Amino acid sequence: MKDGNYLKANNARSLWHPMTAPADSLNSPPTIITEAHGVRIRDVDGHEVVDAVGGLWNVNLGYSCAPVKAAIAAQLDRLPYYSIFRGTSNDAVIELAEELRDFFAPDGLARAFFTSGGGDSVETALRLARQYHKIRGEAGRVKYLSLKKGYHGTHTGAASVNGNANFRTMYEPLLPGCFHVPAPYTYRNPFNEADPARLAQLCLAALEDEIAFQGAGTIAAFIMEPILGAGGVIPPHASFMPGVREICSRHGILLIADEVITAFGRTGAWSGSRLWGVQPDLACTAKAITNGYFPFGAVMISEAFAQVFEGDTSGRAAIGHGYTYSGHPVGAAAALACLAETKRLNVKDNAAARGAEMHAGLLALQARFEVIGDVRGGHGLMHALELVADRASKKPADKAVPGRVQEAAYRAGAMVRVSGPNIILSPPLVLTSADVQVILAALEAGF
Ligand code: PLP
Repeated sequence: MKDGNYLKANNARSLWHPMTAPADSLNSPPTIITEAHGVRIRDVDGHEVVDAVGGLWNVNLGYSCAPVKAAIAAQLDRLPYYSIFRGTSNDAVIELAEELRDFFAPDGLARAFFTSGGGDSVETALRLARQYHKIRGEAGRVKYLSLKKGYHGTHTGAASVNGNANFRTMYEPLLPGCFHVPAPYTYRNPFNEADPARLAQLCLAALEDEIAFQGAGTIAAFIMEPILGAGGVIPPHASFMPGVREICSRHGILLIADEVITAFGRTGAWSGSRLWGVQPDLACTAKAITNGYFPFGAVMISEAFAQVFEGDTSGRAAIGHGYTYSGHPVGAAAALACLAETKRLNVKDNAAARGAEMHAGLLALQARFEVIGDVRGGHGLMHALELVADRASKKPADKAVPGRVQEAAYRAGAMVRVSGPNIILSPPLVLTSADVQVILAALEAGF
C-alpha cells in the first residue's frame, strides 16, 4: 500500500468520486479507509471507529466474515468466471438460485435473475415488467409509478423512477412515462397529516388517483422500497404496502419491491416485503447478498410472473437482457456463503434487538438536542435523524450542520452518513449492544 501522504495528495488527481462534485473532492478530501475488522474501520492515519454506515448499507456481516472470504478465494481458484448466457451455466449459480428460492419462498418468489448490483436489479425488473405485459398481449402497459423520495439507483431507468431531483435534473430527459406519487413521510407531507395510519390512506388514495389519471391499462409496474432508505429512512405505516399490493392487483399493475437495502435481515425481518406481509411480483436485491465483498445482485421473480414467461412459445419470452457478470461464479459463491452465515447468525433478530436499543438511544438524544427534529427507524438497524434549525417550524438545519455532526461523531468514534438534512445509520447487523453505545456516544459528541 502507498503511504498516507501519497494517497492524500493523489486522491482527486485521477479519480472522480460518485455522488461528489470533483471540486469538493479537491477542496475537502475524503476520509481514506485502509483497513476494516469486525464492525470497525481504520483510516490512513490509524484512527479507528465503529462503522455505523455498514459500508453502504451492505456490510451486514461485518468486515471479518471468514467463510465468505474463504468461499471467494476457493471459487477464484476453481472457476474464476464463466458466463450463463444461452448455452452455458456454472455450478455455483445453480446452487445459489436454489438456495434463494428457499429463502424467499415465504415472499412467493421462486426464480432468480442475477445482476451486478442494485441499479442493475432495478433496471432488470423494469425491463422484465414491460416484457411480461407484452407476452400477455397488453403491450400498452409501459409506464412506471413510484414514490417521491424513493431511491432506486442511477441507471437511466432507475433514475427515471427515483423520487429525488438530485439524481434526475442534470440527466434529463429521462425515460418518458414515469410518474411519482407522495411517500408516506409523516414528518413532512403535502397533506399536512401527522397520523401515520391516516397518511397511509391519503397516499394510497393519491396512488389510485394517479392510476385513474394515467389509465390503468397504460401502467406496467409500481416500484417501491418497503422502507425508504436513501431518501431518509422512511418506514410507512403497516397498512401502506398491503394497500399498494391490493391496488396494484386490482388494476393488473405489477408490484416491484426494491429490497436492495431491506432484504437479508436489515429491517428485523428476512425481507421488507415479509415485514409488511406482502408478496411482490418482483423483488430487487443486491448489497448484503454478498455482504459488499463482491458486486452482485438478484431479481427474485414470483411463480405467477415466471409462468407467463415459461409458458410462452411465441418467441416473445426470450430474455433480451442480461449482463456479462449475471451469475458470476465468484459472486454466487460469495452469496452462498453469506446466506449461510446470515441464517446461522440469525442476523434479523440481532438487527431487531440492537435496532430497538439504537432507537431508544436516539429518542433520548432528541429529548436533549433541539437540532434533532425527527427520529426515524423502529424496524431493525436502519435509522435517520432529520436535523432542523427550529423544531416548531421544522425549518431545515443549515446545510453545513449535518456535515459538522458527522465530522465530530467520526472524531468521537463512529462513522455516520449524511444525506441531505439527515444523519443516516445502517450499521452491520452483527453489532453488539456495546457498539450501539459507542455510536450513540459519538453522535452525542456531535451535537
Ligand atoms: N435501490 C435501492 C433501494 C438502493 O438503496 C440502492 C443503492 O443504495 C440502489 C437501488 C442502487 O444500487 P447500486 O448502487 O448497487 O446500483
